Amino acid sequence: MNIINFINRFPDESSCIEFIKEQRIHQGIICKKCAGLNHYWLENKLSFQCASCGFRTSIRSGTVMQSSNLPIRTWMMAITFITATKKGFSAAELQRQLGMKRYEPVFRMYHKLRVVMGQRDDRYRLEDMVEYDEAFVGKATKAKVRSQLKRGRGSQKQSKVAVMAESTPLEDPESGKGDKSCRYFKMKKIKNLEAKTAQHLIKDYIDSNAVLQTDKSTTFSDLSDCIDVHVSEISGTKEGNFNLKWVHIAISNLKKHLQTYHMISERMMQNYLDEFCYKLNRRYFGQKLFDRLIIASIYPYWYDCG
Ligand SMILES: [Zn+2]
Repeated sequence: MNIINFINRFPDESSCIEFIKEQRIHQGIICKKCAGLNHYWLENKLSFQCASCGFRTSIRSGTVMQSSNLPIRTWMMAITFITATKKGFSAAELQRQLGMKRYEPVFRMYHKLRVVMGQRDDRYRLEDMVEYDEAFVGKATKAKVRSQLKRGRGSQKQSKVAVMAESTPLEDPESGKGDKSCRYFKMKKIKNLEAKTAQHLIKDYIDSNAVLQTDKSTTFSDLSDCIDVHVSEISGTKEGNFNLKWVHIAISNLKKHLQTYHMISERMMQNYLDEFCYKLNRRYFGQKLFDRLIIASIYPYWYDCG
């Protein structure tokens, strides 16, 4: 979806409402009060009314647009811009493109969409062969804090990130040279590099039948509770570099990607990681990415809460 297609397909707010309504009907509306599945559409209230108990679900209720005053078309146009490029958009650039007067609503909208991206990816665990490593990325540090930092303690100005990648070795029969193919990635902001932190992440995000590949750091010295097979190589060696090939490529691309943004606070860091991974994991989707993010955005949050 590029902006010309968007304007032709969605010329006004009512065309956007119609589209979101159809998407929600297609996903199925479940009454929050009685769990009824049959609903009537109330055009003048922009709501679905439960056929059993009369409870109303507004078109925005439970979606990313809940409690937002921005027009639905603004949300959809933002999704068009965000999914049109592999690179990140700064909120200021998005504000300019949308022609909005105020920065703050755009900033909040963009972050809500990043949260949606993260929630969608959290539904999947990594499988087969998985590389795992830790990285440091730059973050915003308040001037006062900065002045108190000791020289050479650069790590205090950086966020710690755990990076995981599904990566399977391929043997090229002609050259005999080894290579690896990659599939899905995950990146999680972490508080520290302790073994416990890694163990929790591995339990949460990696299938226990996977083969885990790490370096020989003590963080990974005992993972027998989390994973059946664990391969570790000394970092920096030829084997070590091959072992963690795709996480290293992803980390280097992440650092380039984050340069788009002026300042990223520790608090918001996970949202930026989520957008980066969401797009990376869907790098072959092309134009379909718009529809996928729309679907994720209107999928009610409470479905995931059980
Ligand atoms: Zn009901």
